[in-house]
Amino acid sequence: MNDLTGKVALVTGASRGIGRAIALELGQRGCDVVINYHSNIASAQETAAQIAAPSRTLVHQADVSIAQEASGLVEAALAAFGRVDILVNNAGITLDGLSMRMPEEDWDQVLATNLKSAFNCAKAVQRSMLRQRWGRIISIGSVAGLMGNAGQANYSAAKAGLVGLTKALARELAPRGITVNLVAPGFIATDMTASLGEEILAKVQALIPLQRLGKPDEVARLVGYLASDAAAYITGQVIALDGGMSM
Ligand code: NAP
Repeated sequence: MNDLTGKVALVTGASRGIGRAIALELGQRGCDVVINYHSNIASAQETAAQIAAPSRTLVHQADVSIAQEASGLVEAALAAFGRVDILVNNAGITLDGLSMRMPEEDWDQVLATNLKSAFNCAKAVQRSMLRQRWGRIISIGSVAGLMGNAGQANYSAAKAGLVGLTKALARELAPRGITVNLVAPGFIATDMTASLGEEILAKVQALIPLQRLGKPDEVARLVGYLASDAAAYITGQVIALDGGMSM
């Protein structure tokens, strides 16, 4: 039930961090994996190199915040593998600052990269999933979208937007055998959190009941489960993976 042999997965932002861990997990479960990245080609190729045969890989550059590039990414996946069974909307950025001083471009860029990108990719993969009456759309949100976070008005709004997008898509697509879910991590040890600095991370750790940051492969294992047939009856859900932080 956990085996995904023969399925095709597309992971956005799979060049590093959580996206890379998800690509490796899905590869290990037998998927062919499309590895999307924005600017870091060497790192994306390193993700591909870590996925063992017989799983096949395709590395594809696209800025998924732009609709045309997102649909180009899906077209490349379809050309290479004939279908997309699993979409993981993972690409994301932060541009933090207090709302009073937040430049309009920082609001727009964070909303486009974290929220509009998920709509762009979900729209582009649907035809393939509808045809086969099976699909999984899994997005990576954040506890910031559930609790809010000072200095992250743009990011919190984008991640909260993913909650509504997930539920609307889940209702639209359930009759066709496609499930749509949102994983909302707390603080996970990646480049994104490393940029916060040690002092802030020590304060954050004190707020986490399990008293540590999460690991990218802990997020990946949940995504792997949600992609599998074992999770066939789970849709429209927001699952926090945060060491108890948001309870
Ligand atoms: P990360 O290490 O900063 O990696 C971000 C990834 O997104 C990279 O692969 C990057 O590609 C890609 N990306 C950025 N903008 C893109 C665009 N416009 N088009 C395509 N790809 C793009 O981040 P992470 O910590 O792994 O986070 C992954 C996801 O989890 C994000 O959605 C983030 O908001 C969410 N999340 C993270 C945490 C955490 O604590 N780390 C907590 C909650 C939620 P390049 O390498 O080519 O730049």
